[in-house]
This record gives sequence, structure tokens and C-alpha cells, in this order.
Amino acid sequence: MPDSISDVIVIGLGGMGSSAAMHLALEGAKVLGLEQFSPNHDLGSSHGSTRAIRLAYYENPNYVPLLKRSYHLWHDLEWRVGETLLEECGCLSVGHPNHEVIQGIIASSALHSLDVDFLTHGQLAEKYGFLNLPENYVGAFEKLGGYLWVDRCVRAFQKIASDLKAGLHFDTPVTSIQNVGKDIKVITPRGNHLARKVIITAGPWAANLIGAPGKCLSLMRQTTHWFMPEKPGDFFRDKVPVFMVADQEGFFYGFPMVDPEGVKVARHYGQAEVHHPDEIIRGMLPEDEAALRVFLNRRIPALANAKSPLGKTCVYTLSPDRHFMVGPLPENPNILVGTGFSGHGFKFASVMGEILSRLACNQQVPLNIEFLNLGRFLNDNNR
Ligand SMILES: Cc1cc2nc3c(=O)[nH]c(=O)nc-3n(C[C@H](O)[C@H](O)[C@H](O)COP(=O)(O)OP(=O)(O)OC[C@H]3O[C@@H](n4cnc5c(N)ncnc54)[C@H](O)[C@@H]3O)c2cc1C
Repeated sequence: MPDSISDVIVIGLGGMGSSAAMHLALEGAKVLGLEQFSPNHDLGSSHGSTRAIRLAYYENPNYVPLLKRSYHLWHDLEWRVGETLLEECGCLSVGHPNHEVIQGIIASSALHSLDVDFLTHGQLAEKYGFLNLPENYVGAFEKLGGYLWVDRCVRAFQKIASDLKAGLHFDTPVTSIQNVGKDIKVITPRGNHLARKVIITAGPWAANLIGAPGKCLSLMRQTTHWFMPEKPGDFFRDKVPVFMVADQEGFFYGFPMVDPEGVKVARHYGQAEVHHPDEIIRGMLPEDEAALRVFLNRRIPALANAKSPLGKTCVYTLSPDRHFMVGPLPENPNILVGTGFSGHGFKFASVMGEILSRLACNQQVPLNIEFLNLGRFLNDNNR
């Protein structure tokens, strides 16, 4: 029989779970975090040096208030750990004026009066000559856009949580969860634990633990690549911001030269969907880099023949509409879930942790998350 009971157990200490554990500890809750792998592992989704952050959210304007809070909480975390985590180097999005990305940015920035500069092709060519763009492309530049140091952020959440006496157990996979009266038993090969509430932030493994809502989830392998330019200075952040290129061939993005390995570039989506993390090919395939070189030849000629000293694989956990799934399990409100971040969630990790913590502590969430509810994919058959 477990010797003590936690207020909340957090299953999965990636970006979302580590943030939730920190916010719960800040609330004075008795929190236990359980992670199947070791600290800083690279088998989930919260690793790989950098993650882009931006405010004029083309995906849906409803995300903007969440992002405003997220920015505030990233700065709060920087203050707590005395480390720079968020770099506001600007974010440039380019594409055809009718592309959903450009249209979405126009809609979000208009609705929330965001500070975005809209650029003509001529202005793009003058200011961002590293990009080779068709005459009919336009751009949107956000000064507040930039990137987060993803590995540092996860460590920072975990440091504050453990400094506040949260128990963080690594190499401790949760195998099942059971209701025991009004409490919940969490079962691991290293012993069982009891809690009043459970938060499941299990990333690509969430479907194993969340029942019916997990059936709609799928996974997508993603690769990121670093390219060493002949003149590194041409890609420093005084010349190159975070960039997003919405081409017909796909959506590509990259970062200024901030890593020793070079300029990080990748494609967003564009790979097959699978349904179990074991189906994800973890090594690099020759076609991974080849596909990106086609993009570089087309859009960033200065990198087209650059050496690529590093490539990494990672995993997206996809919801059917590519919007997050955050909130209580329909069949058990004592279990809160954060999943389905669909390749664009890390910038929200600071606020998602706060939201999950508030839900677990029966506190009000002063932000609209109704559009992210888990029940939206449950049809009558499996409610
Ligand atoms: C290549 C790539 C680029 C991206 N770029 C961006 C970007 O620029 N901007 C952005 O905002 N987002 C981006 N994202 C998305 C973002 O990284 C994810 O949305 C976010 O990291 C998801 O965090 P998570 O905590 O849900 O998942 P994870 O980090 O995967 O954490 C889940 C954790 O749960 C643990 N776990 C699972 N099952 C169990 C179990 N049974 N018991 C114990 N522990 C368990 C796992 O080991 C893991 O550590 C990108 C993602 C990828 C893959």
C-alpha cells in the first residue's frame, strides 16, 4: 500500500508536465512527477536547442490571449532562474497573400491589435536578402517573435519544482492508472502512488493512458537539420530572424545562426502519420536532408550546398484539427490532460502548466480554453 498521498501526480515531465509540476509546487500543492526516461532525454518532443515563439497566431486568434500570458510567464521563469530563456529576435513569415498563414496573421493581428509590419516583395528583398522569393510573395514581421531555448526551459521548470520540494522521479514509467474510491492509484514498476488528482502530459505516449479521447491522436516523425553557412555572420540574428516560409510545396521554418552546428532549418508536417511511438524511425534517413536541400535550393541559396553537421528526429502528437487538447477527461474530472499539441505547443508550455495546475487545484482559469476541450472529438458512440 503506498505510504503517502499526493495532491497531484503529473505523468510525463516534458515541457508541459515540468511546467505543471512547477506551478503546482508554487501553489504549495504536494506534487509528484513521474517520468519514464532520464532527465533531458530526446525521445519526446521537448528537446533540440530552440523552439520558435510568435504572437500573431495564424492557427487561430483564440490562442493570442494564451500567448500573452505565456510570454509573461516565460519572463517570470527567466527571473526565477536568472537565465535567458526567451530571445526576441523577431519572426518573419512569408508567402502568397492568400496563403492561410498570411491570412491568419492578418486576422489575429487585426483582432488583437498586434504590432506586425506587413512587407512587400521589394521590402523583403531589400531587408531579407538571404531569402529568394517569388515576386508575388509578401511578408509579416513580428518584433516580439523569436525563440526559446527549449532544453534550458525544461530544466528551469524542473529546478524550481524540485527546489520547492516537488518529488520528480525519473526512469519511472507509469503502466496504468486506477480509480480507488475518490482517489487515483498510479502504478509503476517501482511502486504505486496515490493522488487526489492526476495530470497526464505524456506527449506521444498519451494515447496509452487517456482512453477514448486518445483514439483520435496520431504521431508524425519530424526531422530538424543544421547547416553551416560559408559566412556564418550572414545568418547572425542581427540579419536573420526566426523565419517561416509558406510555400505550395510545404511549410518550412528556421532560426538565425545561434547553435555551434549552424543554421537550424526544418519542414513543418509533411510526413506520414503513425499511431505508436515505436513506429517512429529515430535515426536519420538520406531522404530527410535531401528533401530539405530542395527547399534550400529554391529559397535559401546560400545554404543549398552548405555542410550539415547535425540532424535530429523528433515527434509531433497530432489532434485531428491540429489544435491542442487540454482539460479534464470527460469520464473522470479528477484526471486532467494536456496533449495533441500538434507541433506548435512548446511556446505555450509556461501557460499550459499554469492552466493544468489551476484546474487540478479547482481554481478558475481566467483564459478561454473551451476551444481546446477534449470532448470535441468524442462522438456519441464513445462518449
Ligand atoms: C521538430 C519539432 C519542432 C517543433 N518546433 C516548435 C516550435 O518552433 N514552437 C513550438 O511552440 N512548438 C514546437 N514544437 C512542438 C513542441 O515541441 C511540443 O508541442 C511540446 O514539446 C510538447 O510537449 P509535451 O510535454 O506535451 O511532450 P513531451 O516533451 O514529449 O513530454 C512527454 C513526456 O511524457 C513522458 N511519458 C510518456 N508516457 C509516460 C509514462 N507512461 N510514464 C512516465 N512518463 C511518460 C515522456 O517520456 C516525455 O518525457 C516542435 C516539435 C517538434 C517535434
